[in-house]
Amino acid sequence: LFATGTDFLKGVVAMSGMPPADRVEVCFAGRSNVGKSTLINAVTGRRALARASNTPGRTQEINFFTVADSHYLVDLPGYGFAKAPKAEVAKWQALLKSYLAGRASLRRAFVLIDARHGVKAVDEEIMSLLDASAVTFQTVLTKMDKVKVADRDKALDTTRKALARHPAAYPELILTSSETGQGIATLRSVIADIA
Ligand code: GDP
Repeated sequence: LFATGTDFLKGVVAMSGMPPADRVEVCFAGRSNVGKSTLINAVTGRRALARASNTPGRTQEINFFTVADSHYLVDLPGYGFAKAPKAEVAKWQALLKSYLAGRASLRRAFVLIDARHGVKAVDEEIMSLLDASAVTFQTVLTKMDKVKVADRDKALDTTRKALARHPAAYPELILTSSETGQGIATLRSVIADIA
């Protein structure tokens, strides 16, 4: 799927700006700094692809990328950034809610969790929103290269326990590192298999 090419389509700030829901769609969510841009770049094989979403002024946009002619890959704004103004946070939460609840073509969300930190309160919030919106989500652990082998099982176990509380959670975790390339091919094929 990703061999065909990925292109930035548009950044969306309101439901009225969404492209037609005529393709298989997956979205990526995660706390700021979780490694989302890096992972999206690794998966799509394009170095600077998700950079657009990190430039000032674009951070609160929902960014749409086209993958081949069949899929949309959607980069949701990073959350949990303490310095963001309250009004801005409220605005993006409203947009996020509308998007998750109203996007018929959205097949799966990938929720990125830093393998070292596990599931935090802000992650729980987005997971609960996904539950309420009946959007199946799959957890992607990032920065696995930073986790010591001795800490690995405990990290996975803690994450699985947190996920067990969420009806929309897909039980299988995807373990990734953009540094070593771990899990990138897996994530690609998981996305390609979503119909
Ligand atoms: P975003 O805010 O979620 O888009 O996060 P970025 O992709 O910008 O990454 C945040 C920081 O984590 C950057 O300094 C990246 O170089 C680093 N990073 C991202 N992925 C990995 C990874 O798999 N391993 C390690 N060690 N660092 C990573």
